[in-house]
Amino acid sequence: MRQKDRNIHTTGIIFRKTPFKETSLILEVFTQEFSKISVIAKGIKREKSKDLGLTEILNELELVLHKTNEWYILKSATLIKSHLFEVDFNKNILMQAAVEIYRQLIIPEEDSKKLYELLIKYFNYLKQVNINGIAIFWRFLLRVLTISGIELNVISCVNCKKQKTDFMGYYPQKNGFICKNCYRPVLKNSIIKISDEVTSIFSNIYQIGNILNKIEISKSTINQINKIFLIHLSEHFHKKFHLKSLELY
Ligand SMILES: [Zn+2]
Repeated sequence: MRQKDRNIHTTGIIFRKTPFKETSLILEVFTQEFSKISVIAKGIKREKSKDLGLTEILNELELVLHKTNEWYILKSATLIKSHLFEVDFNKNILMQAAVEIYRQLIIPEEDSKKLYELLIKYFNYLKQVNINGIAIFWRFLLRVLTISGIELNVISCVNCKKQKTDFMGYYPQKNGFICKNCYRPVLKNSIIKISDEVTSIFSNIYQIGNILNKIEISKSTINQINKIFLIHLSEHFHKKFHLKSLELY
């Protein structure tokens, strides 16, 4: 009787690698079909192993895996693209920040293809950007939230529901923004005040690619916007999210 082919063919991106025993590595791989999986690359650190170079972080690979009860074992890999190749420091950080978010997210298999394609699109777009790449990261995050079913509405006020461009603050309990008209001093302790610069970035975020060269983004805006995203994620997933990579940006 012929043995069944139990090999699995998939495409994945390496998020992390950890040494395992003398000569092996455990790779955390984000795949199109199975979301995030752990793959053992047996003996890959042995001298003359030509595959070691394939295991760089953010390499996108065509993978052949063998599944045992608890592990995926790497049978072979072919490089599709090395996403960090010739990427400058700031873009590297912005790419790592996306990975940091994906590593903290619970990604069900039904969302993994969409989030995979979004990540690749984000990497490719970012590479063409010369300035203010952080805004592209925020636009990416909004799309991640929408795919994950926890959209952050940056267009309408959480109170009057009208489309607004004069938001006063972020209102965590209502998962959105409150406009100047609806703001009352009694809400002072429930909202996080935001600057006009933050409001203006959110109102332009879906067209932000066209105006990157015309805007300036201050450090405090970066901090405020990152904070809003982290609060939104933490509220929905009931755990603390962090963005350590961006501390260097
Ligand atoms: Zn309002």
